[in-house]
Amino acid sequence: MERDFPPLRKLETLNFDNAYARLPDLFHARLTPTPLSNPHLVSFNPDAAALLDLDPAEVERSEFAEYFAGQRLLPGAEPLAMLYAGHQFGHFVPQLGDGRAILLGEVVNSRGERWDLHLKGAGETPFSRNGDGRAVLRSSIREYLGGEAMHGLGIPTTRALCIVSSDVEVYREKVERGTTLLRLAPSHVRFGSFEVFFYRGQAEPIRILADYVIAQHYPELAALPDKYPRFLREVVRRTARLMAQWQAVGFAHGVMNTDNMSILGITLDYGPYGFLDHFDSGFICNHSDHQGRYAFDQQPNIGAWNVTCLAQALSPLMTVEAATEALAVYQAAFVTYYIELMCAKLGLAPCAEAAQLITDLLERLHANRVDYTIFFRRLNRFQTDVAVPNAALRDLFLDRSAFDTWAQDYRTQLLRQGSQDAAREAQMDRINPKYILRNYMAQIAIEKAEAGDFSEVDRLLHLLHAPFDAHPELEHYAGFPPDWAQRIEVSCSS
Ligand code: AMP
Ligand code: MG
Repeated sequence: MERDFPPLRKLETLNFDNAYARLPDLFHARLTPTPLSNPHLVSFNPDAAALLDLDPAEVERSEFAEYFAGQRLLPGAEPLAMLYAGHQFGHFVPQLGDGRAILLGEVVNSRGERWDLHLKGAGETPFSRNGDGRAVLRSSIREYLGGEAMHGLGIPTTRALCIVSSDVEVYREKVERGTTLLRLAPSHVRFGSFEVFFYRGQAEPIRILADYVIAQHYPELAALPDKYPRFLREVVRRTARLMAQWQAVGFAHGVMNTDNMSILGITLDYGPYGFLDHFDSGFICNHSDHQGRYAFDQQPNIGAWNVTCLAQALSPLMTVEAATEALAVYQAAFVTYYIELMCAKLGLAPCAEAAQLITDLLERLHANRVDYTIFFRRLNRFQTDVAVPNAALRDLFLDRSAFDTWAQDYRTQLLRQGSQDAAREAQMDRINPKYILRNYMAQIAIEKAEAGDFSEVDRLLHLLHAPFDAHPELEHYAGFPPDWAQRIEVSCSS
């Protein structure tokens, strides 16, 4: 049967419909990007182009880099910087807003999906405070690969279309190159987008924004008399689910401030994030997070704390009882999702013994500094026959007996469930990735790119879009991280 392909569009004929720009001026500041001179394309993501119905051949045009370096404005765009506030490391900052990102507009594709075109690094805005409005090549590559890697793993996230760089000098710890990232998401509204008005004591804008978000992104709630508490409950549930997904895959966000929390429950704002190498429950990926507020094992609690901030900001729209009820969903939702995901990683059907098996395993992985991703990928090939020592797994543990005792309990459970090795392996190969975006991999791509070779960015993009596949030509990325990986430090500097 013939498939229907959407008509492919040129840059000049993207189907803009800028709903956020139609909100009152209170919510944003209109302005155009400050162009970067002499732009050049670093990387282009055809999968993201498809989301916009954009013809991938458009990347061949010289205008492509000019549009995304802010030198030209896409017809139909209505650029603006979004206003928001946020709790940063526990402290409320009354006004943040996009200090270096400009929402160009929203493209509605042939499937009716709405995508924000958000240009990060587009120059100063009224919300830049002391910042220069720029982003650098390093941080843009990290965000680009981070988002696309999460997407490849099936975790809700912002996407990205391209990276464009320039010879414009930007000053960080060293001189770097001004770069833009064209980020995509159904919405960039954050918890902080509501908080800004709560702390100003303005109830009406909270209602306007809530009605807008519900109409655009939760239309099934729009006609309900209790739409606001339902909306809150849904954000709470999605946030709990996202935290479970981060924990299960071993992702640490690094800066879970409420201005980085999406109203859609998607991963947003990739800064000093990190995927676990060896399992370390207290892993702190952000070198600037001295207290470990956003340590790996704190993320579920911080997610709960953050939705409480959102509930407070929405409090003018509902009773205390309704808000409390919505928040109460979090804990059970998190545990349910997490157990479900971890059972899938173990190739088990959810069962009463699962929680203990998971706790025992994580304790042993932590104590033995076992590589999280490699352990689970090897577990796909676990053999239930007691005569088989499962050496590839066993050898990952300094204390072999720690593995043996756990493996005995695991085997018992598999046998109880009638699990077949071959079938389980095939199933788990689609759940436990062979590849994740380890810090050192991003670092290699960055160092090459800074020297003018962008090939590793594209190679990793391709790899991480299909992290469950074999990719024999890139097998070296499936192994242990090199020793120098431990010395990489990532901070908020971007
Ligand atoms: P982030 O830590 O990237 O989530 O940023 C927190 C806030 O600082 C947001 O309002 C950003 O837009 C703003 N910001 C970060 N870097 C810059 C910069 N170089 N110039 C202007 N604003 C920035
Ligand atoms: Mg942010």
